[in-house]
Amino acid sequence: MITRSSALLQRPDRHEPSPLAIQARWQTQLARAIRDPRELCRRLGLDEAWLPGAEVGHALFEVRVPEAYLARMRLGDPSDPLLKQVLPLAEEAVPMAGYVADPLAEAEHAPAPGLIHKYAGRVLLITSPACAVNCRYCFRRHFPYEENAPSRAQWDTTLDYLRADASLHEAILSGGDPLAASDRQLAWLVERLEAVPHLKRLRIHTRLPVVIPDRIDDALLGWLATTRLQTVMVLHINHANEIDEAVIAACQRLSAAGVTLLNQSVLLQGVNDSVESLAALSERLFEAGILPYYLHVLDPVAGAAHFDVSDDQARELVAGLREVLPGFLMPRLVREIPGETSKTPL
Ligand code: SF4
Repeated sequence: MITRSSALLQRPDRHEPSPLAIQARWQTQLARAIRDPRELCRRLGLDEAWLPGAEVGHALFEVRVPEAYLARMRLGDPSDPLLKQVLPLAEEAVPMAGYVADPLAEAEHAPAPGLIHKYAGRVLLITSPACAVNCRYCFRRHFPYEENAPSRAQWDTTLDYLRADASLHEAILSGGDPLAASDRQLAWLVERLEAVPHLKRLRIHTRLPVVIPDRIDDALLGWLATTRLQTVMVLHINHANEIDEAVIAACQRLSAAGVTLLNQSVLLQGVNDSVESLAALSERLFEAGILPYYLHVLDPVAGAAHFDVSDDQARELVAGLREVLPGFLMPRLVREIPGETSKTPL
C-alpha cells in the first residue's frame, strides 16, 4: 500500500492536471490553485525531504500555484526557475538584518482606503487583496490587505481624493493582483476613473495573464477595449519559461485591444541571475509583444533574503546583457527606495 508520505517520493511520469482544472474558466482555475505544500511537492515529484521546509514557509505565507503555471515546471527538479519562485522554504523563517515587513514604507503613503500615493502624477489603487500565485519574494507578502480592501462606499472617498488633485494623470491598479477582481467590479471602478477629467491613463500591474492566461477573456477585453483611458499593462515575468503559447495568445488579444504591454522582473538568485537567462527572457518577451521595462533588485522583505543578488553582481549582469541585446530589449535596473520620488537606477 502506498502511504501519503511514500507517494511523495514517487516521481510522476508527467503532470496530472485534471482536465477540468485546465479547461475551466479562470475563476475556477483560480479557486483550484494548489494551496497545500504537500500537494505541490507531490505533483512535481519532489523528494519528501523538501516537505518540512515547505511547511515552515507555508505557515508564514500560504503556498498558491495555479495548474496552468505548474504545467510549465520540470518534474522532479527543485532547481526549476518557476518552482523556485513559489516553493516555500524554511529559510523564510530566519530573521535577517535589514529585511522587514514593509520594505517600501507604503503605510506612510496611504491617504485614503486602498490608495497609495508615492509619486507625482500617479496613484496606486489596491484593487484586489488576492493573487493567483504567491511569489515567495513578494514585497507585499506582509501587506495588511484587510485594512486596504475598500467597500464601494469607501471607494467613493478614495475617488474623491483623485477628483480633488488635478495633477494626477494616471491611476495604477495593483494589489494583490487587480485582475483577481471580477470584471463587474473592475468595470465599475474604471467607469468612475474615466469620469475624472484629468486622468489620462490606466495602468494595470498584474501577473494573472502569465499564471492563468485564460484570464484574458471576452469579459475583460470588453471593458478594456472601450475605455477612453490609454491602457498600459505591466506584466510580471521573471523567466523565459513562464511564457508559453497560451501566454503569447493572451498577449496578442491584449495588443489587439489596444493595450500597451510592458514587463517588470525581479532579479532573483537561482531564478534569473545569469546573462543567458535575462537575455532569453528579453527575447521571449518581445516574441510575445511585450517590452522589457524594469529589472528590480530585490526589495528587502522579511522572508526573502535567500533571493538576494548583490548590487555589484546586478550591475555586472546588466553590463553583460548590454553586450548581447539591442537597446530596446534592455530593462532598466532599478531599486525602489522609500521616500524617493521615483525608482532609483543602479
Ligand atoms: S503576483 Fe505580484 S503581488 Fe502577488 S504575490 Fe506575486 S509578486 Fe506579490
